[in-house]
Amino acid sequence: MTQHIKLFTPGPGDVDDDVIASLAQPIIRHYGPQWMEIYTELQTLLKYVFQTQNDIFPVPGPASATMDMAIGSLLANGQKIIVGNNGFFSQRLEDISHAYGLDVVSFPAEAGAPLDPDGLRRLLRQHPDAQAVALVHHETSTTVMNPLQAIAEAAHEAGKLVVVDAVSSLAGVELPVDAWGIDLCVTATNKCLEALPGLGFVSVSPQAWELMDRQPAAGHGWYLNLRTWRRYAGEWSAWHPTPVTMPVHLVLAVLTSLRKIHQVGLEAHIAKYAAAGRAARLGLRSLGFEMFVADEYASPIVTGVKAQAQYDVAHMTRWLLEERRIAIGGGLGSLAGKIFRVGHLGKEASREYLLDFLFAMEEYLRSQGVLVSPGAALVGL
Ligand SMILES: *Cc1c(COP(=O)(O)O)cnc(C)c1O
Repeated sequence: MTQHIKLFTPGPGDVDDDVIASLAQPIIRHYGPQWMEIYTELQTLLKYVFQTQNDIFPVPGPASATMDMAIGSLLANGQKIIVGNNGFFSQRLEDISHAYGLDVVSFPAEAGAPLDPDGLRRLLRQHPDAQAVALVHHETSTTVMNPLQAIAEAAHEAGKLVVVDAVSSLAGVELPVDAWGIDLCVTATNKCLEALPGLGFVSVSPQAWELMDRQPAAGHGWYLNLRTWRRYAGEWSAWHPTPVTMPVHLVLAVLTSLRKIHQVGLEAHIAKYAAAGRAARLGLRSLGFEMFVADEYASPIVTGVKAQAQYDVAHMTRWLLEERRIAIGGGLGSLAGKIFRVGHLGKEASREYLLDFLFAMEEYLRSQGVLVSPGAALVGL
């Protein structure tokens, strides 16, 4: 095996050894009594982390496939959707909506700033025919937390459904799907659920089903169509609850991780992220770095840091990788070269990883002739 590079990237994240060990077992069938026991436990634990009683479907593929499924299942060509846009992954929601021939109304905020609920209220008055509002909860590209609860409230006041990309936020910050009335909520295995990539999850509210039932001809495709998944979950519920062969090992891996989250408790799991985000911000600030996002809407899941004239981000990133085998993330799209991003997903939130990262940052600055007293970045640990 090649020497491991420690991941501090905003995705993928390093995961625990017992999660990886879940893969080393023979194939089991994705149907029958043995599978139903596993599938039932998966459902119970997913409902726990989603904080919902809604239906949840595990969908093989990248997170974007499940996001594609959520939008494509809900609306028909020509129907109107309002899409919050303040970064790379929000733009993807617009792209998906356009790809399905929807009438897309963009609801923008500046990169680095959150969406404004009152702005949405004004937009909803201008577009009473919109069916749904879609947004990213944690815009991983800018490290901004959008005020999801307030946005959902504004959408509900106007009687609209709420579709959320919670890929990098669910289980990393508070997101009670039922209490906030999130109609379609999408997440995936390799962010704050701390398992292996390759599986997405989507929860579907009764209101979302109602809209889909009112227009059965709407919705696109077969595989990425929620109607298909509901049919199998219903008709074949006792022995084969999904329409396709499941990557059973990925399910076993996420089950291992979900059990651990359940054991420590969702609240403690979320608190781990809060502490990691705080330690990273304190430490980096003590080294003279400026944060990209104001504290009040900064993400505890990924820390975004402004590039500074005296440190070239590309040079720093390469030094960390080559000298310390530490990988961090850069800026996406228009933010390339302007920020760097440090993820706290999974192991990256541990004291051991944070010590390594922050100490390596001190060493980098020293290598560049900056006077830093040893341990200066560890103030938050
Ligand atoms: C990581 C991420 C995705 C993309 O996931 P894929 O598995 O690459 O499709 C989508 N949205 C957000 C907010 C993310 O952080």
